[in-house]
Amino acid sequence: MEKLSARYIAGATLDDSRRVVAALNADGKLATVDVLGEEVSDETEAAAIAAEYVAALDAFVRDNLDANVSIKPTGLGLKLSYELCKRNVEAVIAAAEPTNRFVRIDMEDSSTTDDTLRLFRELRDEGHGRVGPVLQASLKRTVADAATLAGASVRLCKGIYVEPESIQFHDDQAVRASFVQTLETLLDGDCYAAIATHDEWLVDQSLRILRERGVQQDRYEFQMLLGVRPELGDRIVADGHRLRIYVPYGRQWYEYSLRRLQENPKIAGYVAGDLGRSLFRRR
Ligand SMILES: Cc1cc2nc3c(=O)[nH]c(=O)nc-3n(C[C@H](O)[C@H](O)[C@H](O)COP(=O)(O)OP(=O)(O)OC[C@H]3O[C@@H](n4cnc5c(N)ncnc54)[C@H](O)[C@@H]3O)c2cc1C
Repeated sequence: MEKLSARYIAGATLDDSRRVVAALNADGKLATVDVLGEEVSDETEAAAIAAEYVAALDAFVRDNLDANVSIKPTGLGLKLSYELCKRNVEAVIAAAEPTNRFVRIDMEDSSTTDDTLRLFRELRDEGHGRVGPVLQASLKRTVADAATLAGASVRLCKGIYVEPESIQFHDDQAVRASFVQTLETLLDGDCYAAIATHDEWLVDQSLRILRERGVQQDRYEFQMLLGVRPELGDRIVADGHRLRIYVPYGRQWYEYSLRRLQENPKIAGYVAGDLGRSLFRRR
């Protein structure tokens, strides 16, 4: 698992993420960095993750790297208490704002959707302009949520968490249709659109919509995960669009890798094969 993860995760340390971000920047790509660590069990762990984000932001400024951060509410204590989580998010924002860095609030499973949107709205209403949420096209509520986010910077993705059919589309085409409709709704609301997908069909549809509406290039960007379909990312950059790569790092890489593997059985096959081979080698 560790060997396989190397492609999708910058490494265990901040230095690893600095190296990966520097290489991406040199390649004309921006970054958003994720400190791995979800569902913390106590206040100290949550504060440690917030402190790691602050250290990362300081390092990116020192190195003059073009990188923002992506935070997870549960990693900053949401399941312990909303107020605790908000204090930790504010600490990250306090480190990001002086140098105009953006703080993206990742969207986790549906038990967190309301609190996460509430967190974003409160922070925005308290004057924090460089913070934005994520919407998951697979959720049936998402087009309606998008309509309430006029003017915000919103990342749009399909959504990685499996939810009951009562609240989530389980059909691929329905998810794609919702993605397109949500993007249209965000653009209607003059949002900054961060289009996060490796689905070439959706990339092409998004480009068509942006072109037809004459959306300026500084009003949107594409986003992709580190190590996933790099050739599609290269095409997006070569065509002159902004591309931001999601760069996870940290010692708690196991959960993250597991989710990527569950999502893509083809990779799971490689992992099993690889694992099998190393097991045999060891004997
Ligand atoms: C920058 C970014 C941020 C994200 N943030 C969130 C978030 O906050 N909350 C959330 O729920 N989800 C998030 N996601 C995950 C997202 O919801 C999807 O689960 C994921 O992007 C796969 O959907 P897809 O649009 O790429 O389409 P898919 O149809 O799943 O993928 C298209 C093709 O891309 C390749 N591919 C896709 N994913 C992988 C992978 N993991 N490994 C290897 N190949 C792959 C495959 O070749 C696949 O056929 C994020 C994704 C990105 C790119």
